[in-house]
Amino acid sequence: MSAQTLSFAPDSQTTSGCLDAPVLRERGQREVFCGLTGIVWMHRKIQDAFFLIVGSRTCAHLMQSAAGVMIFAEPRFGTAIIDERDLAGLADANAELDRVVDRLLSRRPDIKLLFLVGSCPSEVIKLDLSRAAQRLSRQHMPAVRVLNYSGSGIETTFTQGEDACLASLVPELPPSTDPGVPQLLVVGALSDVVEDQFKRLFDELGLAPVAFLPPRKSSELPSVGESTRYLLAQPFLSDTGRALDQRGASHVPAAFPLGAEGTTLWLRAAADTFGISPALFEKVIAAPRARAERALENHRGALAGRRLFMFPDSQLEPPLARFLSREMGMSLIEVGTPYLNRQHLAEELALLPPGTRLSEGQDVDKQLDRCRADKPDLVLCGLGLANPLEAEGIATKWSIETVFTPIQGYEQAGDLAKIFARPLRRRQLLEV
Ligand code: SF4
Repeated sequence: MSAQTLSFAPDSQTTSGCLDAPVLRERGQREVFCGLTGIVWMHRKIQDAFFLIVGSRTCAHLMQSAAGVMIFAEPRFGTAIIDERDLAGLADANAELDRVVDRLLSRRPDIKLLFLVGSCPSEVIKLDLSRAAQRLSRQHMPAVRVLNYSGSGIETTFTQGEDACLASLVPELPPSTDPGVPQLLVVGALSDVVEDQFKRLFDELGLAPVAFLPPRKSSELPSVGESTRYLLAQPFLSDTGRALDQRGASHVPAAFPLGAEGTTLWLRAAADTFGISPALFEKVIAAPRARAERALENHRGALAGRRLFMFPDSQLEPPLARFLSREMGMSLIEVGTPYLNRQHLAEELALLPPGTRLSEGQDVDKQLDRCRADKPDLVLCGLGLANPLEAEGIATKWSIETVFTPIQGYEQAGDLAKIFARPLRRRQLLEV
């Protein structure tokens, strides 16, 4: 595609935005969910997997309230409760875990992939879940593969649960059978409807077969090797990216598929990597891009010129900020993110308006002080901060909604804008 065919391209080529901007790094009290939360969307994605949290009653309650009503006849996650006897070292936690797993697998032959998910309590008692997973895998293979990862909240945020889960899958991926033929691998959980839309576009671009990680079934693990070109669909996959690099795969640098612009840049990065002609690219994306642009117009009036403050929560904040400022005309006050992976986010940072305040990590009281002083029109934040800020008269949006809702791709661009427009419209109605 030539630079002239995209209205935003000249701008992106003449400035480096916030690529080299200073970042305010803070460490202090944080208000975020732990990595167990990732199970809420991961258990819907891999249909023959089961997530067994090895944790406390607190962990079980968090999952129950975060996941809400179970939509499947048989649950796809559960908690093996570590009780006081385990914590006091009075019981052999490994033997109990083996019993729980045996019972679960004998009752549920549909489970083909079992994740043992570590928690704060399992880490406190130093239960070695990687050894447990190896031991249980030996017992239950080939019927069931047992892997482990940590969802502990001690030093992580909630989207890192997906990163840890996918990183644990990477060593299991079979090696590429045809090392000479480059293949595209899309990495990061997308809702099935979004994945199908992207698959169709990749097909029309002539990039098929395109593989996705995670797959919908554990028997469909994509192969990986030096011919693999991986395109991240989510910005919070640092460990997974590193694990894929170690398998010889190459990262395709790209903006993330949020909004009409982001989706075009994301698809174009893949198309350029595989030498797809600009004419074919433009032909394939023209209609869906036009639909996305029309859908965005409906929400621009509510968002343009409004001032946005983003607390760190999901790591989606930089691409969301790029979308909201460039496509919806919002003015960015602070863009906070729990972690800033400069390599994976380089394309996004280059598109942020110069002078945007970037912050990484959190010292929540200091950040709240900045937010109150800045008097934003809208705040993106975690659930714990939303109610107090609303009580102070500040409109908020829960950032977890941007993870639970399908927002990627052209067809979802309007829904993404609506997520941010809704609280502003509601407040306007209340003020009338
Ligand atoms: S893993 Fe840790 S932070 Fe998460 S629910 Fe369990 S105890 Fe709480």
